[in-house]
Amino acid sequence: MTDNPIDVLDEILHTLHNHRDAGIRGFDCSGEAAGLMDRWHEPLTQRRDTLEAIRADLGECRRCPLCHRRRHIVFGVGNPDAQLVFVGEGPGRDEDLRGEPFVGAAGELLNRIIQAIKLTRDQVYIANIVKCRPEGNRNPEPGEIATCLPFLERQLKAVNPRFIVALGKVAAQTLLGRQEPITRLRGKFYDYHGIRLLPTYHPAYLLRNPAAKRDVWADMQMLMKVYDYED
Ligand code: SF4
Repeated sequence: MTDNPIDVLDEILHTLHNHRDAGIRGFDCSGEAAGLMDRWHEPLTQRRDTLEAIRADLGECRRCPLCHRRRHIVFGVGNPDAQLVFVGEGPGRDEDLRGEPFVGAAGELLNRIIQAIKLTRDQVYIANIVKCRPEGNRNPEPGEIATCLPFLERQLKAVNPRFIVALGKVAAQTLLGRQEPITRLRGKFYDYHGIRLLPTYHPAYLLRNPAAKRDVWADMQMLMKVYDYED
């Protein structure tokens, strides 16, 4: 690298010509891009993504239409070193108001499920496929999921759990890239980038269909058999 300003300008010009020849017509000057470039200078060994860095990159996100009606971004909550991550679909009304996942009636039920497997909410990490509330609690659209998912993928990589429980159809189908109904997907472990992923019913579904609690309990018993409570 040179200190001569003429050489520096020549290098910039050369770079711009290369970009033009490659078909590039503009630059991303967003805070997210700037943050990524700042981290180029960090040694590779220090570059493990953190939940704080991911939250900072997300910012006051307006990347998809779900930003228009949300009150709070619901990023995720819990132990950053959790062995177990629960992934739901998206925030509901209570979650949107509080900015925290699973705090309404479905959240109460999830808390009871967590207790039943002899853990506490502080020991696990909880997040959703999309971080802003789809109005009327509709399913998120494929485009909304595709836009938001990279942030959850980074969160999962940063937490690096041994197990993921995918709560409901949207979470299971999205993380597994499969289309089967949750009735067929649940009750088995799958591989998600080296993490064991277990789909089960969403707690909101259990509130409407209490009989399905038996299936969820069977799934949780499978999980308890392989969970390392000593860790
Ligand atoms: S749902 Fe995700 S991508 Fe869409 S605005 Fe919210 S945080 Fe951004």
